[in-house]
Amino acid sequence: MLCAGVGKPLIKFNHCKKSIYSFAVPQRCPLCQKDVGPRKLEEAPVSIANPFTNGHREKCSFLLRPTQGTFLSACGVQRDGAGWEQSVSVPLVQPSMYGLMDQWDKYLEDFSTSGAWLPHRYEEDRHNCYTYTLTFINCVLTTEGKEPLDKSEFTEKHVVPRTRLASKYITVYRAIEECGFYVTDHADRE
Ligand SMILES: [Zn+2]
Repeated sequence: MLCAGVGKPLIKFNHCKKSIYSFAVPQRCPLCQKDVGPRKLEEAPVSIANPFTNGHREKCSFLLRPTQGTFLSACGVQRDGAGWEQSVSVPLVQPSMYGLMDQWDKYLEDFSTSGAWLPHRYEEDRHNCYTYTLTFINCVLTTEGKEPLDKSEFTEKHVVPRTRLASKYITVYRAIEECGFYVTDHADRE
C-alpha cells in the first residue's frame, strides 16, 4: 500500500441509480453511455475529502502511515523531518485542552528520553510504536487530570474508522486509475 500517488481530487456523481466515483465528471455516463446532461442541485457532483493529511503540519496528533506490511514496525524513537506527508491523523487535543499544546513538545521530550523506549527494549507486540504513542498520550492525560485511554477502545473508536476510510479511499482511487471510474450502490454513503 503506497500512497504517494494519491494526489488527484476525487468526485462522486449519481447516474443509473448508482454512485459513480471519478477524477472528473465525464460527458457521458460510463454505464449507460447517455449524456450526463444538466442536473438538479441535489444531483450535483460532490468532492470526496482526501483522508490523508500532511502529518508534519499536524499538532498534538496520533499519526499513522502504512509501512511495509504493518505500521507496527521496529523504530526506537526518532524525530522525522519527512516521510509523514500522507498519513492518517487522529487529533488528540480537545478544544478544552488547547492550553496543553504549549506543553506538548516538552512532555514528549521528557517522555522520549526516559530510557524506557530505547531500541533494545522493543518487543514486537507489547512494546512498540503504537504502545509508545498510547503510553505517552496517557501520561499527558493523567498529568492533566483526565481519564487514560484504553488501548482497544482507542483503536476501535479513533483509529479503525480512519484507517478503514483511508483504505477505502485508496481502493476507489486505484480503481479509477485503472478503469476510469468506480461504481457503488446508493446505500453506500461514503
Ligand atoms: Zn448512466
